[in-house]
Amino acid sequence: MSELSFKDKVVIVTGAGGGIGREYALAFAKRGAKVVVNDLGGSHTGEGKSSKAADKVVDEIKAAGGIAAANYDSVEFGDKIVETALNNFGRIDIVINNAGILRDVSFAKMTDKDWDLVYTVHCKGAYKLTRAAWNHMRDNKFGRIIMTSSAAGLYGNFGQANYGSMKMALVGLSNTLAQEGKGRNIHCNTISPIAASRLTESVMPPEILDQLKPEYIVPLVLYLCHEDTTETGSVFEVGAGWVSKVRLQRSAGAYMKDITAEKVKENWPTIENFEVNPAYPTSAADSVSGIINAANSGKSSG
Ligand code: NAD
Repeated sequence: MSELSFKDKVVIVTGAGGGIGREYALAFAKRGAKVVVNDLGGSHTGEGKSSKAADKVVDEIKAAGGIAAANYDSVEFGDKIVETALNNFGRIDIVINNAGILRDVSFAKMTDKDWDLVYTVHCKGAYKLTRAAWNHMRDNKFGRIIMTSSAAGLYGNFGQANYGSMKMALVGLSNTLAQEGKGRNIHCNTISPIAASRLTESVMPPEILDQLKPEYIVPLVLYLCHEDTTETGSVFEVGAGWVSKVRLQRSAGAYMKDITAEKVKENWPTIENFEVNPAYPTSAADSVSGIINAANSGKSSG
């Protein structure tokens, strides 16, 4: 099989000064892309800043014969990151929303600062950058966007109410952008990775971390961002060399004439039965028509 090339594609990778982001930046550059290496260079809890992290990766790419430019802005100023891409490379093809911080604390102890900082980096940052890139992609009739979610968002995790909320918000953003981008060849997918990095080194034992190399996340993202790939609006779990697609499942449900709380109680086993005729809605229209159809067929059989 021929190698998936990114020759002359312009790629922005946020948080590319370390962890998974660095691996994306190196891999895209190796395959011919011109890469904007964005990193604020602060701590993993979102404090401080430094140009060192991004500069180091740009140097590495250049030393290997690749093309890259550094950007040190926080993702909340996404328009400035797009400016760096346009000033250096004249266009923008691919956006990898990867930058991230953690401010883990139980909800009982969470402060507004814990909430706001995590919102600003993950949610507002992905919005600002993608919004600034969007119209260029629309005009070029080409775009590939990745949102980075997390198991903490998809499933919930103790101590991560802030992080989990923002990570699930990105799924919603991705789903809508996939629909709005369809006519313009702009695709948007979401990944939920697991990898050894400064975000996970304190919460997992070394033997597990050994299996979770950050470079194992890269191939899926390369595939999703390639010009020949048609996949859009999907969510993937990825790590340790394993990739899986995740979707929402809806039970066949129960129609209750003159619905009451007591009838809901009585029908609970049917409502939560995923074995018989489940559905997999993929749009809001799908969801609404599914509800109307299910209710109508319940009415006619009841
Ligand atoms: P990491 O801390 O190694 O890398 C994140 C990078 O983002 C850092 O270099 C940091 O400086 C940069 N950054 C932070 N705030 C920024 C800002 N405001 N603007 C620009 N850059 C900023 O972490 P990682 O594990 O490589 O995480 C990458 C992404 O994957 C994050 O979005 C994270 O939430 C997500 N994620 C990681 C895991 C995992 O297992 N590592 C699991 C689920 C989700």
